[in-house]
Amino acid sequence: MKTISTFLFICTITFCNSQILKKQIPDKLVVLTFDDAPASHYSIVAPLLKDYGFGATFFVCEFPPNYKDSTLYMNWRQIKMLDKLGFEVANHTRTHANVTKLTQAQFNEELEYIENKCDSLNILKPTNFAYPGYGLNSKVLDFLDKKRYVFARAGGSRVYDPLIDHPYLIPSWAIDENNKTEIMAALDKAKKGKIIILTFHGIPDMEHPWVNTPPRLFKEYLKYLSDHKFKVISLKDLNNYINTDKAKETIVVDMNKPLKN
Ligand SMILES: [Zn+2]
Repeated sequence: MKTISTFLFICTITFCNSQILKKQIPDKLVVLTFDDAPASHYSIVAPLLKDYGFGATFFVCEFPPNYKDSTLYMNWRQIKMLDKLGFEVANHTRTHANVTKLTQAQFNEELEYIENKCDSLNILKPTNFAYPGYGLNSKVLDFLDKKRYVFARAGGSRVYDPLIDHPYLIPSWAIDENNKTEIMAALDKAKKGKIIILTFHGIPDMEHPWVNTPPRLFKEYLKYLSDHKFKVISLKDLNNYINTDKAKETIVVDMNKPLKN
């Protein structure tokens, strides 16, 4: 009896795995994400990523109050260039809103502003989301689902396991100028089906020094990823590996895991 139930258990697990995963997650798979649309994403980050042939996701917003200052933030023409260069432009709300405080209508308005802006500039429609300030609750997950978003990135400083973590609770590590040891240890965990998601802010970040990454350090990370043959992709590229509809059907939302950085 025990043997049969063990056999059934293994079959169920294997079946679920094969349903959620379209193909095996390779070791050394890393997703790079960049938040808040600081000017350095256009001037420094994009050219370096291009040199290495790396993919990336840029979660854009109009960060108040200074988003119009082009010494601090990208303008929409520059965001359009990121799209043109093949990077993913994704949604971080219009105003970097704490989405836990919004009604569904307000939330949709925040998302749709970015969607409409992209549409008017012929930028591919954003399908992925990052929670501003890591603010999230189950109500927001429901809003995202109604808007048919695919992935939503949070924090939590832990690996992403596509068989365990819900697509709306994608964990990530946030990089700053003082956590290189932690990030290097994290990269070491990109194996056995686990994916490492990194969150960068400005490189450098003039307005938010607590999430600053000096360009020198950023270049070190890129060189390390390249030298050690990591596969570096955007969040959207994970669609090649993960059947998110199946994952949303199967994986229970667990809000008790660490989700903030
Ligand atoms: Zn942000």
